[in-house]
Amino acid sequence: MTSKYQRIVVKLGTSVLTSGGDALDRAQMVELVRQMANLQAKGCEIVLCTSGAIAAGRERLGYPTVDDSMASKQMLAAVGQSQLIQTWENLFNIYGLHVGQMLLTRADLDDRERYLNARDMLETLLKNKIIPVINENDAVATNEIKVGDNDNLSALMVGLADADLLLLLTDQAGLYDANPRTNPDAKLISEVDEIDDALREIAGDSGTSLGTGGMATKLQAAQLARRSGATVIIAAGQQPDVINDICKGKMVGTRFKPSNNPLESRKRWLLAGPGPVGSISLDKGATNAVIEKGSSLLAKGIVAIKGRFDRGDMVILHNELGSEIARGLTRYSSQDLMRIKGQHSDNIEEILGYAYGKVVVHRNNLVIKSSR
Ligand code: GLU
Repeated sequence: MTSKYQRIVVKLGTSVLTSGGDALDRAQMVELVRQMANLQAKGCEIVLCTSGAIAAGRERLGYPTVDDSMASKQMLAAVGQSQLIQTWENLFNIYGLHVGQMLLTRADLDDRERYLNARDMLETLLKNKIIPVINENDAVATNEIKVGDNDNLSALMVGLADADLLLLLTDQAGLYDANPRTNPDAKLISEVDEIDDALREIAGDSGTSLGTGGMATKLQAAQLARRSGATVIIAAGQQPDVINDICKGKMVGTRFKPSNNPLESRKRWLLAGPGPVGSISLDKGATNAVIEKGSSLLAKGIVAIKGRFDRGDMVILHNELGSEIARGLTRYSSQDLMRIKGQHSDNIEEILGYAYGKVVVHRNNLVIKSSR
């Protein structure tokens, strides 16, 4: 039977790769590789987002006692990543496949040109039937430039690769309506149409001790991926044949439907890439125009500016109640906006002595925060 999905991002958490222990569980890894190779043989394309570098580093160095500093973690990641990639290469090689390593940080995705370069590289690997193996570049990433967790990194890969499925494999069978570790009556939620606050509350913060992301980060990632047009499934990595079953269309784990209006490529990057450096508050009229009519933001509808930002920076747009409604790239710096807020577009040039156009955030450079 052929797969329901064509291009699949598989994210494997540390807890899956180690089976909850303190070393890579190679038997478990080879089993997952068998399933991925099987799909690849059927014509699917697999992008593997792997955690486990730090765990592999600890194992390789014989579980040294290290302090909690960034440099120590980077050391473990530097040692472990090479072990990890070597292990993946060896295992995929059993099936005649090769892997290509891509280590990324947020900085590689923030800049539009670097983002497009990464996309080209990913496409080239896939075209050549090489399995891209992605991880955060932990050895050089500092907190400021980190994506921070591989759930979100894998969701960014969905946007980058235009994948139609994100598979978040973890040590739990999916998302439960209560914490299954503490509540024996917790029930698995098998299908999610919409990620809302109630669901976010349910997800709470049920992190595992080994990985970085808990269910809360998985929901964030799921939202990002479904807005890129992908189905997202959270399931247990140790369940026999889990990847194959999901691709055959069996109901396994928790399935999130893709958004009804997926974002086009540039807007995915906007949502994925640059972190916001400031915010702009809109009046009610501008809020409505931006949300309901899909209009660009004009200076006239701006009531306040927070933070210091330059032309071209990413800013958050707030409604009159202070809630985030959208993000976008501003054509004017915060200093300029202080002077032109509330003003008619025709007056911008007179006030500033120059103008970069009538709109402050063009709708092509703007993405509304929530969407069905
Ligand atoms: N990049 C980390 C590692 O390889 C994992 C981050 C995560 O688990 O989300 O150890």
